Amino acid sequence: MAQAQIKSVAERNVLLVVDDRPENLVAMEALLEEGDWLVRCVDSGEAALQKMLDEEVSLVLLDVQMPNMDGFEVARLMRGNPRTRYTPIIFVSAIAQTQDAVLRGYTSGAVDFILKPFDPQVLRHKIHSLLAHERNRRDLVHLTQQLDSARAFNASVLENAAEGILVVGEDGLINFANPAIAQMLHCSVTDLEGTPLLSRLELEDNGCDWKLSDFYRFWKRGEVYRLHDANLRTFEGGLLPVALSSSPLPRLQRSMVVLALDMSVVRQLHAQLESQAITDALTGLLNRRGFHQAVESSLARIGRSGKRIAVLYLDLDGFKRINDSLGHDAGDQVLRRVGEQLKSCMRPYDVLARMGGDEFTALLDSLDHPEDAARVAEKLIELVSVRYRVDGIDVTLGASIGIACYPECGQTVEGLLRAADMAMYEAKRAGRQQYRFFSPEMNGRARSRLMLEESLRNAIEQDDFLLVYQPQVHLDSGRLRGFEALLRWRHRVAGMVAPNVFIPLLEETRLINRVGDWIFRQGARQCREWRERFGDELVLSLNVSPVQFGMPQLADDLRRVLEANELNPMQLEVEVTESALMQDLDNTREQLRQLRTLGVRVAIDDFGTGYSSLAYLRHFELDTLKIDRLFVANMLGSPRDAAVVSTIIDLGRNLGLEVIAEGVETLEQRQWLIEHGCSIMQGFLVAPGLPVADAETFPMQVDWTRLPLAKPSS
Ligand code: C2E
Ligand code: CA
Ligand code: CA
Repeated sequence: MAQAQIKSVAERNVLLVVDDRPENLVAMEALLEEGDWLVRCVDSGEAALQKMLDEEVSLVLLDVQMPNMDGFEVARLMRGNPRTRYTPIIFVSAIAQTQDAVLRGYTSGAVDFILKPFDPQVLRHKIHSLLAHERNRRDLVHLTQQLDSARAFNASVLENAAEGILVVGEDGLINFANPAIAQMLHCSVTDLEGTPLLSRLELEDNGCDWKLSDFYRFWKRGEVYRLHDANLRTFEGGLLPVALSSSPLPRLQRSMVVLALDMSVVRQLHAQLESQAITDALTGLLNRRGFHQAVESSLARIGRSGKRIAVLYLDLDGFKRINDSLGHDAGDQVLRRVGEQLKSCMRPYDVLARMGGDEFTALLDSLDHPEDAARVAEKLIELVSVRYRVDGIDVTLGASIGIACYPECGQTVEGLLRAADMAMYEAKRAGRQQYRFFSPEMNGRARSRLMLEESLRNAIEQDDFLLVYQPQVHLDSGRLRGFEALLRWRHRVAGMVAPNVFIPLLEETRLINRVGDWIFRQGARQCREWRERFGDELVLSLNVSPVQFGMPQLADDLRRVLEANELNPMQLEVEVTESALMQDLDNTREQLRQLRTLGVRVAIDDFGTGYSSLAYLRHFELDTLKIDRLFVANMLGSPRDAAVVSTIIDLGRNLGLEVIAEGVETLEQRQWLIEHGCSIMQGFLVAPGLPVADAETFPMQVDWTRLPLAKPSS
């Protein structure tokens, strides 16, 4: 209660009466007794100023005429002090109300004047109105302060907001940008202000007219416009994924506020989720959806390029048993293992997926032959079909695979998958552990090729290859120069197979390196065995395939067989075709240099058929030119072929090379060759490729009158 009273006293207005005459003070105090205020009295200007420092004074009744310091002076000093600058003053004066005094009073900051004698009612009225005025003034000040701080608050909100905020005028120009948006776009606030909003946006209908843009159209309707997946262009040319909202400001402002939320993290998360949506959680391979997408984009990419892709559908044999008897955990373990195995044998750009359950698919991109897909399928079956140890128990799996190639078996993802699936069932029906092409015709072709490849592999292991030796003879004297070793494949069922049939396949599968090495060893050993019979000047020509010629270890391989058999390097001659020489000139130069260092001879085989440049021929260090047998076969009937043959002979002579005519079958051809200066021949006229036993009995010197010495077998 006492506290409330004190409080109410403190809240009450304080009137300060200033007069040098005590009777005036007493009179004024009595006059003001009734009122909602407290009255304080002092008798001098100095005391008044002091009082106002001690206590909050709401209004001063100030006597004008006082000794020492008059009322005007007090007023002036009051106005000079911030604490009392606005305190209302009523001058109380007894002097004649000259215009001058009143004016002076007002200029000194007085708010009102009252002259004695006065009506107490008027004074009270004046006091009330001045107090009200002062209260209003204070309220106003207070309000202004509040406004200022609100403005400062708003500014600091904009300043410190983490999201980008733009104010865009109805003309589409940015009027305001907060620091966050500037930071997001790697620029300063002033870089943005005054520029068109649309210039910062990466939109599909970019470059469109502001008045046609959704920002403007929504603003016009007074609606909020939201754009969830927009991109802002940063000043460095990058793109920042953002979500935008644009809200109209009150009509008068004729602008909108655009909020930009940095979505890069969200989008990244989104992408991650998306990738989760296309991957199989168990194996980490793609799932059905991911596989669909992969095939689709692959189809779109290759289009009509003529390239081929294959879809493989793999189903595990025996998985259900594992799952049922050992439980799902064991099953999962097996699936994971299979996934890893499959991955390990695919090329990095091939696509693997688990379609669900124990079904896997593979996409083989850019195949040259459907057979390549069959090869992969075989490999996959081989890999998967092993014994696994799961929870200490051995289990065996198998796989059946269906293959469908684009474009033959289907044009769409669904079509290809269906075809591959059907082929897979076909493979299962046929007894599991197999693969099937969707088209039976492709199936047959691929199989026979694979069979051939398989039996070639066996042939290498079982030594089904042999060499026959075709003599090379000096045309005039009939003296034996040497033999060309020719490869034969003695097939257990098909009999002798000609090299033209299987050498390309050996090259394609790179098996040629293994066979090639065997040829070198076999030929060189034969050469040594014949040393007694034919001497150490006998030349043995070995054919080297283009693939072999491209291998860096060619000279090393030859050196090894030379050393192993203590041969004179000049006894070995390497036959390389023209096209093999021309395919990689750097390799050719290096290879020829190494062969030269080694000391073996080098011959160009089938000369005249390939595309070789005579200019290069000059730079290659060669020993022998072998005229292709087609020219020899036709030279007597065709002047053009005759011209080619005689040109090659001349060329060889000019370059200091030996020239061997291949495929000489008649004495007429021999005669023509002698007349045109050719020195050596090879051909059925003398002998075909001979088995070792027959070659051994070949004479050192051919008797031209007793020909032919032997007939070709086929
Ligand atoms: P090539 O090197 O031009 O071999 C000459 C071919 O002509 C041989 O066929 C030979 O039997 C045949 N021939 C020889 N004289 C006559 C004749 O008077 N008339 C007719 N019509 N043909 C004759 P072959 O043995 O079937 O070899 C064919 C091709 O296979 C060879 O052509 C060669 O490019 C390749 N080749 C043969 N053996 C090997 C080898 O060991 N390694 C490599 N890389 N390729 C070989
Ligand atoms: Ca040859
Ligand atoms: Ca030849």
